[in-house]
Amino acid sequence: MSTKIAILPGDGIGPEIINEAVKVLECLQQDYALDVELDTAAIGGAAYDESGSPLPETTLNLCKSADAILLGAVGGPQYESLERELRPEKGLLGLRSELELFSNLRPAILYPQLANASSLKPEIVSGLDIMIVRELTGGIYFGQPRGIRTLDNGEQEGYNTLVYAEHEIERIAHSAFNVAMKRGKKVCSVDKANVLEVSELWREVMIRVSKEYPEVELSHMYVDNASMQLVKWPKQFDVMVTKNMFGDILSDTAAMLTGSIGMLPSASLDKNGKGMYEPIHGSAPDIAGTKKANPLATILSVSMMLRYSLNQAELADRIEKAVSDVLDQGMRTEDIADGGSYVSTQEMGDAVVKALKA
Ligand code: NAD
Repeated sequence: MSTKIAILPGDGIGPEIINEAVKVLECLQQDYALDVELDTAAIGGAAYDESGSPLPETTLNLCKSADAILLGAVGGPQYESLERELRPEKGLLGLRSELELFSNLRPAILYPQLANASSLKPEIVSGLDIMIVRELTGGIYFGQPRGIRTLDNGEQEGYNTLVYAEHEIERIAHSAFNVAMKRGKKVCSVDKANVLEVSELWREVMIRVSKEYPEVELSHMYVDNASMQLVKWPKQFDVMVTKNMFGDILSDTAAMLTGSIGMLPSASLDKNGKGMYEPIHGSAPDIAGTKKANPLATILSVSMMLRYSLNQAELADRIEKAVSDVLDQGMRTEDIADGGSYVSTQEMGDAVVKALKA
């Protein structure tokens, strides 16, 4: 039976970049016998326009029955005055929670050809390849109780709860060790065990789970030091695993080391490895329809999908090589052109397909 992939173009540049990623998938179908069925559905603002909901039942059902999901991006200024429940972002958050996508994989990869795009010195970031594994559905963003209360003296007090149950730590640990097995076999667990009891438990569970992965080297780092080390010498890391809030912050720092938002893919996985794959950037309404969108983050999201959900590491390598080849040829979209000449979204997609066929 074919592997089923749900394709959700979304809003803004979403349909433009998804078009190019679909071309890549079709090339793999035709030239590399990849057995996949592609089914497209609406999400976000586009879905709201069509049906009055940012996550229609048909889209949710398609995603539930699919083996993997490829998403463009959602959102746009025309939807900002809608009530919160109807906004495009709600469709995306709804999908993540309905599918229990608790493990967020955010790679920070810097192709050596683009080393000048970073604000750090080229020798520090050239060839950078880190994977941040962020716990996505627990921790302080979801912990109860939470709120703002009035104290006896009339002063207001805001409070949130940082809580992790053992099973939540165990499953994100397995996710990180499994990812490390497909990469450099090193996991750095980032915590604040010198101050937080939650982090003490986090560390204890990480060590326990690591025994099941004897090939992987586990280290620990406090989050303050980790943020410093990311900027000082990022290439020391292979996989970093951390809680929701720490991961939120560290993954943005890591992404910015590469300086190019149009190049970075991401994955959000459930406990069975089923995942939703999407570029880390948004719907870029400022450039929608101008043919300037960089499709490479979305194409690299296909590569992550092949690696982490479809068990097709060799095809994933081929896509990454094809991207590297087109960069070697000097092909650049405007965001990575450093003021030089640039090609359109479609020309970039076509070049990747040509490199794949070569
Ligand atoms: P954005 O990521 O869409 O854009 C930030 C800047 O990066 C813009 O200047 C944009 O032109 C540029 N950019 C983004 N992707 C690019 C690409 N592929 N090629 C070239 N340039 C690119 O962030 P924003 O402007 O803050 O948000 C725009 C909309 O996207 C908002 O509605 C926001 O809510 C939504 N958003 C969606 C997601 C998602 O779908 N996962 C993520 C972030 C933001």
